[in-house]
Formats: sequence, structure tokens, C-alpha cells
Amino acid sequence: MIVSREITISGIVQGVGFRPYIYRLARLHAIRGGVKNDTRGVQIIAEGDERDVDSFIDAISAEPPPLAFIESLCVAAKEPIGADRFVIEQSREALERTAFIAPDTALCDDCLYELLSVKDRRYQYPFITCTNCGPRFSIVRDIPYDRKNTSMAGFTMCVACSREYADPDDRRFHTQPDTCGECGPAMVFMSASGEVLERAIDRVTQRTVDALRDGAIVAIKGVGGYLLACDAKNDAAVAILRSRKGRPFKPFALMAGSMKRIESFLHVSPVERELLCSRERPIVLLKIKNREVCEGIAPGLSDIGIMLPYAPFQHLLFKEDPDMLQVMTSGNISDEPIVFRDGEAIERLGRIADYFVSYNRAIVAFSDDSVRFVQDEIPCFIRRSRGYVPVPFKSSVVPESILATGGDLKNSFAFSRDGVIILSQFVGDLSTLAGNDVYTETIAHLGRIYAFTPETVISDLHPGYFTTQFADSLEETGLGRLKAQHHHAHIVSVLEDAGREGPVLGIAFDGTGYGTDGKLWGSEFLVADRTHFTRMAHFSYFPLPGGESAIRDVWKIGTALLNDAFGPGHELMRRGREAESVLEIIGKNINSPLTCSIGRLCDGMSSILGIRDRVTAEAEAAQLLEEAALRGSRNARDDGFIIPMHGDGEIEISTTGLVRYCEGLLKRGYSTDETAYRFHAAIVRTTVALAESLRERTGINAVALSGGAFQNRLLLGLSMRGLREKKFDILIPRKIPFNDGCLAVGQVAIAKEILK
Ligand code: ZN
Ligand code: ZN
Ligand code: FE
Repeated sequence: MIVSREITISGIVQGVGFRPYIYRLARLHAIRGGVKNDTRGVQIIAEGDERDVDSFIDAISAEPPPLAFIESLCVAAKEPIGADRFVIEQSREALERTAFIAPDTALCDDCLYELLSVKDRRYQYPFITCTNCGPRFSIVRDIPYDRKNTSMAGFTMCVACSREYADPDDRRFHTQPDTCGECGPAMVFMSASGEVLERAIDRVTQRTVDALRDGAIVAIKGVGGYLLACDAKNDAAVAILRSRKGRPFKPFALMAGSMKRIESFLHVSPVERELLCSRERPIVLLKIKNREVCEGIAPGLSDIGIMLPYAPFQHLLFKEDPDMLQVMTSGNISDEPIVFRDGEAIERLGRIADYFVSYNRAIVAFSDDSVRFVQDEIPCFIRRSRGYVPVPFKSSVVPESILATGGDLKNSFAFSRDGVIILSQFVGDLSTLAGNDVYTETIAHLGRIYAFTPETVISDLHPGYFTTQFADSLEETGLGRLKAQHHHAHIVSVLEDAGREGPVLGIAFDGTGYGTDGKLWGSEFLVADRTHFTRMAHFSYFPLPGGESAIRDVWKIGTALLNDAFGPGHELMRRGREAESVLEIIGKNINSPLTCSIGRLCDGMSSILGIRDRVTAEAEAAQLLEEAALRGSRNARDDGFIIPMHGDGEIEISTTGLVRYCEGLLKRGYSTDETAYRFHAAIVRTTVALAESLRERTGINAVALSGGAFQNRLLLGLSMRGLREKKFDILIPRKIPFNDGCLAVGQVAIAKEILK
């Protein structure tokens, strides 16, 4: 019997070779009808013998193309119209726009092979791509995903490319960004002022490699923005890059040409190897095996972030010199968002780079390289951006559409509609005007390509956050308005990530987040579900003299901690007279907000131990304290110390008790390194003991960990081990970061639950 079915598929089904896949399946199963993209995804009309149609439908979900993600597949019966063949139809506008866009994906092996084959017509062509690889998110201006809605719109396909595009048996069948050297964008090598020096690709490649060998800094336009490259083994070049970028400490990421090259100087576990080679190609943090690159790459740190090439031009560079190791760091000035517009590149990076490599296709949506690490064989995120964005998370369904504005540091925002959450790319720090502008533009861009109109907006509680004020401005236009406490959002993000409801015992070890008492929280033990939380315990408050400035001058925190524990004039107080003025500020309670942040506590301890007094990057002092502790862990013995706690309702863990303990260790002759280790061990031991007593009180066995301080892998590793030994059910974020990059997901989940 001849039947007809209308099949509607949503998910990431555009720009991933889905229509050709359906076309081939249809031919295989003798199906007539057609397939087309619409703004909701892909729509298929399948006509044929009932048995054939059924097996065709079964086959669709069985082996979809590698980049596809089927969110839903609906089948409806239709009246057969007597189609005589199967066709790929033109896209059409539908009323709703819920199609998803694929992430940018590393060059596939087939394309790599052609790129390096002298006889191939795309030999050395730096924009080679196919249905299974290449740019997507970064070039989409609108949906449906058709060439005219991408930044490829200005390029007309040549005859040879058109033939491939139209041939269902070609692997470039309906590849929207498909081009060749005849008809597509081209790369140029330019001076720092933008004068074009080379146009032929082999010359562009050669000049770039030569410049890098000579110690120059080259700004290279990549997939999601400009990257700054220099020779990782050239001390002078790395030092110049640091001084021009205004970034004395924060580690630089590297790129190497092969796994073998990476393994020659870094330790790589099987899980880490898998991440490095994945088509998302993130930066992965790896332990140093031998110091081959200069110290300036990651000063004082024992791991290095590295990635493999993902764009064709990067492969060409490493083909030219397979042994080189290149710094590849985001092209920006200090903490501003990555530069991705050509106009801005010369203006903003011209003072940093000696040369530019660029091309004449716009990057519509920026994204930094993603950063990951592996803990206990679990891949974790530090930054979720290129390669992962905008893959949606499945979530519960609420009728209302929600925008979550995230936080002001390491910002990502999120929106939610139907049963999915879309987390934005890493926007970064919103402390600059440039950051604010990019943030609002990015919300507008994602809103446009998904035709997303929020009905409710949720933000952090912090009145000083730009993200809060932005949400306030939307409220004035009539949107529903919700707020979420920072650490509640941290913990709920873990629940959402794990698909759990709670209640859970949440431990948020963090930088700072605005508390319900107006103080700066950051060492929270919460009993939380998706709507409520009770603060069960935290470290006792200490002053942050000078407020934000203490985050740079961490010796001020050290002084405050010592003052709380011993009073003024302690021998470990650094900077005699300056310390006195700090004590005066605290005494008169001038601009000295109270905090219980673990991050700030680590900063202060780093100064007390003489490791770092001033920092240039967030977490710098804490990271170096962790490194000291790692060294100290080798011969440290466990003394069983648990930090004193008091209070029976909301428990306070005595910060002064911890400071006194560490001071005592130093007095008894323990080294800085061993004291640093015992500081960490004491926090963890206390955490586990507290978790046990809270479990006894509440009967809750699940523990969720979040907060930027858990990127301290000693703290994370020891905590997980301690909690595991006590048989806790441990939840850590797997699809989102520990740091504030997770906030928007937590906020969305809280809003959903409230709106239900
Ligand atoms: Zn490919
Ligand atoms: Zn062509
Ligand atoms: Fe936070």
C-alpha cells in the first residue's frame, strides 16, 4: 500500500549534511517526495510502500551525520500526492524559528588529505570545508542555514564548486560554505598597519612561518576571532607579547602540530588525548613533563594549555614546520573580549602584532578557544566556547521564554525556550565599555538568529553588576523579572547539568558573589533545590581592605587576616607602614567589605606565606599557592587538623583558626610549600567533616561542587577523594564550567522552576 508521511525533525539538522543524508536514505529505501530546511529544522515528505516508509523512518535516527543532533522527530500521516522522485527543495520561511545552528568544527580528515594533496584542486586552499567540518556558528547571520544567510553570501560558486554542490553523491553536496581558490575568500599577509605584503597562499604561509621563526608576533584571523601567535621557545618574543598585551602572568595557550609533538614534553592521559583529538579541538591543560618551552608561557605553573590545529591555515603552518610550538592566544587587550572584526583588528591589535594574516570573509559570531582539563578521568570545562557553542542542552519544558544574563566575570548568558537551553559563547569580563558593548550585541545577535524574544529575565543579585543593570533595563520594557543568589545559581547549574532535582548539599568555593546579607560570599555550604536554599555553613568573614583593590594587592588581605588572628603588628605582616594604613582603613571601616570567599582567603594566605603580594590576574596568587602546595604534598604527613567551627544554626568555620594553624606551622619550622599543602588539606578535611555532619542532620547524601576555586585541582582532587571515601554521591559540572561561566545555566534553571 502506498502511504505518505510528513516527518518534522528539529535539533542541529542544518549545515551538517542532513538533507543529503536524507536524500541518500530515501534512494536506498525507494522513497519518493522531498526534504527541505525550514526555520524549525528539516521537513520531509516520504511517499512509498508502507514497509519502505517505516524502515526509512527507523533508519533516520540510526546513523545521522556526525555533526547532527536530533532533538525531536515527529511523524504525521498525509494524503499521497503521487510524487515520482525524491528532491531537495528550497528552504522556506516558517512562522517559528527553532532550528539550531551547528558549532564550528575542526577540519575533517578527508578535507585535510585534500588540503595536502598536490594534485587536488583545493591543494593548500585555506577555506576547504565539507558537510562534516568547518565554520558554522561563526558565519551564520540568520536562519535557515543557507548560503545567503551566512558571511559566504558575497561569494558566487564557480562551475566546479556548483557541480559538487548539486551532486548528491559528492561529499560537498549542499555544503553551504563550500568554495575553492577560484571562487572563495583568500588569505593575505599584511604589515602591522594593514598593507598587503603577500597574496599567494604558499607565500602567505612561508612569510608567516618565517616571521614567527624571527621572533615576530603575528595576529592570525582564525575561526572565532584573531589569535596572537609567536614562537613558544623564544623567550624574547614571549616577553614582548606579554608586555604589549599587558598580561604579565596569565598563562598562554600553545598549539602543536601533532600528538607526538605534544607528548614529547607534556603528560597526556588517554582521556586527555581523546579531548585533544576531538572535533571540538579545545585547549587542554596538561602537566609538564619537561620544560621545553620558555618559562614565560606559564610562569611558575606546572601545567600548560595546548591544542591541535583545527583550521586549514593552521595545518598549513605546521606542515611547513612540524616541530614548532606556537603561542596561540586570544587577540585582545588584557581582559577585553576577543577581536573579531577586521576594522577593529588593525586599530586594536596593531600595537601588539608585527604582522597580520587575514581574509575577506566576516566572522559574524566570535568565540574564543575552549579550555578543558581532566579530573579523575572526567573531562571538565574552564571555558565552553568554540566547538561547543551553540549546542543546546535538553531541559524541562516551560511555556515561557527566559533570558539569563549570567555574571560580570567570565560571562556567558543563556536563553531557554521549549525544552532547551542555549548557553552563549564565552563573552568574558564585562568590566570595560568594550565588554559591555560586545555583551549587548551578542545578546541581540543570538536573539535574532533564533528569533528569540524573552518574556522573563533573570540575573544575579549583585546591584553593581552590569548584567543586573541590563536585566533591570529589560524589566522597564515590561519583562518579568527574577533574581538568583550567586552561589545558589552555581549549585543549581550542577543540578541542571546532571539532570537532578535536589535537594543537594551544595559546596560553592568561589571568588566572590553577592550574598543575601549584602556581604561577599564564596565559601558556601548550602542545602539547595532548584527554588530554595538554606545557608548551612561558611568561613567566618574577614575584611577586604580597599574593596576591589585588595584583589590586586593581595598583601592587604594577608594583613587583614593576620590582624583578625593576632591583632596589629604581627611579624608576618608585610610592608610595615603601608600595613598600618591598611589597618587604619579596617579600623575605621572605610571601604572594607566583609567576605568569606575561599578565593580571597587563598590570595591572602599566598601573601602571608610570601608567595605573592601583588597580582596582575584574578587567581594568580591562589594558583601559585596551589603550585607550592603541590610541591609540598610530596612529603607532607597528615596531621588530622580540622578547622574550629562554631554556631549551631548557621555554622561558621573559623578563618582565624585556619590562619593561626598555618602561622603555627611556619613557627615550628615547616616550609612554605608544606604549609601551603597543609592549608589545602585542612580546608578539605574540614569540608568533608562538615559534609558528614550536615548529611546526618538532613539525610542528604548528594554533594554538588561548583565555584571557580574548584579549578584549583589540588582542592578539587582532594575534595572528591575525601567525599568519595565517605560514600557521598558527588556531582560536578560536566557540560559547563565550575566558574561563573555556569551561572546563566543555574539562573535559567531557577527561573524555570519558579515559572512552572
Ligand atoms: Zn571536511
Ligand atoms: Zn569554486
Ligand atoms: Fe562565582
